[in-house]
Amino acid sequence: MRPLRWNIDAADGRARAGTIATRRSEIETPVFMPVGTQGAIKGVRFEWLEQEMDARIVLANTYHLFLRPGPETIRELGGLHRFNTWGRAILTDSGGFQVFSLNDLRRLTEEGVEFRSHLDGSKHFLSPEISMEIQAALGSDIVMVFDECPPGDAGHEATRTSLELTARWAARSRQCFDELQDSGSDTGRIENAPEGLDGRQALFGIIQGAGHFDLRSESLERTVAIGFDGYAIGGLSVGESKEVMYGVLDHIAHQMPADAPRYLMGVGTPEDMITAIGHGVDMFDCVIPTRNGRTGGAFTSRGKLNIRNAAYARDERPLDPDCTCSVCRRYSRAYIRHLYQAGEMNAATFISHHNLAFFIALMREARRAIIDGRYNEFAAAALAKLGDESASGV
Ligand SMILES: [Zn+2]
Repeated sequence: MRPLRWNIDAADGRARAGTIATRRSEIETPVFMPVGTQGAIKGVRFEWLEQEMDARIVLANTYHLFLRPGPETIRELGGLHRFNTWGRAILTDSGGFQVFSLNDLRRLTEEGVEFRSHLDGSKHFLSPEISMEIQAALGSDIVMVFDECPPGDAGHEATRTSLELTARWAARSRQCFDELQDSGSDTGRIENAPEGLDGRQALFGIIQGAGHFDLRSESLERTVAIGFDGYAIGGLSVGESKEVMYGVLDHIAHQMPADAPRYLMGVGTPEDMITAIGHGVDMFDCVIPTRNGRTGGAFTSRGKLNIRNAAYARDERPLDPDCTCSVCRRYSRAYIRHLYQAGEMNAATFISHHNLAFFIALMREARRAIIDGRYNEFAAAALAKLGDESASGV
């Protein structure tokens, strides 16, 4: 028995349409995972994600929940699912990415990393073992190993040093994770798991190596040797050029084990996801639908628009005329712009809601195209339309 089951429902070239059965939900891929940094999707209630968008999995950030309210509080409250009421799958990151984004605030050793909280400057320590303990207390369904994320433009030598540390940390993560599963530390454990599943947390490994193809291959080999339930590509969308990102995807994604889900961490834009799916990636997450939503940025099938633009003051069209979400069915660009200009919080929630619905619908369309054997045509048409910003009325 395993913590999750992966099935490829259809393949078209390197693109795959699959199903990930987790202990809490079945996830059809390609999938976009909304990011709930603090255990909540900013501005969008879980009711909408469940009933309207039918999101099957969301992401939560270990770093933020570690600092506040703290893993012991969440453990006492019965785990993250019980605390935030989301009953479907949750993936938690390891906290590494956030800590390494702090730059001046950290001290790195073989053991782990010391850092100062961005909230109050207090000192904290994270290691593979502590990250596994926090993620067990949260009770997420998919746990990520604790890795070091080098800068996107890191040189060959620095990247090699970093990936060797990441490989040692992956082995320590695996060992501690297994011990925690055996000791019953996981608050999300399900006794009556779906058939064939053991009700335990799943653990994903992370492939690093920045923009160096040889190091990406080596990282993949070493990560697969340890053995995980799924594999992620880390260290992309961290400031490198599109050429580097797409080059790494073209090099590594199809070499990753076919019999496990492939997750591209922190990506991305609709264009990036469509490209990555073509290389064989199954899972994505990114904060941009809600982050941009709060500053007036809407993603549409014809590219991005910013609702602050005066051109929308009398525009009665919905954010995206091709979108069927409840915001687009009801509200006009002119009204949402008015709300934004007036500082009404509904402007942010409406645009965030639409953006998430758009990302999730885009993944559903991509899946349909893969199943129908027309992914290349779909991708070319979608990318051409996304680049056609004039059509959105900008
Ligand atoms: Zn919409």
